[in-house]
Amino acid sequence: MSTHGRKQILFDIGREAFQKLTGRTDVGYVCPICLGRFPNLQGLSEEHVPPAALGGKVLCLTCQECNSAAGHRIDTHIHREQISQSFMEKTGQTRRATLIKNGHQLNVDVRHDNQGINISILGEHNNPRVVEILQPRDILSGTSLQLRDRVSYSQTKADIGHLKSAYLAAFAKLGYAYILRRELNSVRQQIISPETQELGLLRLEARDGSNIQNDLFLFQSPVRCLGIKMGNVIICLPVDSEGLYEKLQEMRSVGWKETWQIKERCDWPDRFELALDFSGRYRIE
Ligand SMILES: [Zn+2]
Repeated sequence: MSTHGRKQILFDIGREAFQKLTGRTDVGYVCPICLGRFPNLQGLSEEHVPPAALGGKVLCLTCQECNSAAGHRIDTHIHREQISQSFMEKTGQTRRATLIKNGHQLNVDVRHDNQGINISILGEHNNPRVVEILQPRDILSGTSLQLRDRVSYSQTKADIGHLKSAYLAAFAKLGYAYILRRELNSVRQQIISPETQELGLLRLEARDGSNIQNDLFLFQSPVRCLGIKMGNVIICLPVDSEGLYEKLQEMRSVGWKETWQIKERCDWPDRFELALDFSGRYRIE
């Protein structure tokens, strides 16, 4: 099917869901992030959730402003974070890094494979004087050597990137009836303004031992919220009150004493479901 055909299907589903919820027939498709209204496909684009670079699939449409502008400012940071986390993993691939000794920096290639970790100093891309300084005898003398990854990213923006993916997954699963709740206003505001983190603790580490890559569930306690699991990251979204992220921050500061209990497993959306708008199947309250 053509891109246009796929987009038209998503457009029609989204428009119908909004109509069912609000009774309004004159609105068209509403961008889930900025809530802008679009009478036709113009200005809308397919949104991968999580981002395509992380293996996400198209789940809904967002406006081009929210997709590309926010995408460029946030999504690249999640991708780089993922690349950075694989630094020194046994991938067999060669990547560029920096070897640092006594403040001197050398460009090196690093490869971790079945033979071990191989570090090659690059002849062409280094200042010959620095190469001279780093004699093998220095390396044997007990001086510390630091190997630094070249990939840099902002942790805040990577976290907000995950928040955006979680929000869009919840939208695709539950629909406008969920995202138009008042408590989601500050989440949307944070996604639109990723330069500074306004909310408390955004991101939890998944330690459930589950091998399900992406999942969506409703936590019963210690706080009632939606949990959106993407790989080893869990993002919570509020269901009944504001201040969720401040509560999470508080709980972390005292060392996570509570047991997390799941009330209902909703599963990751495998298509543009908008379940609350169409069927009210899940009781998110
Ligand atoms: Zn938008």
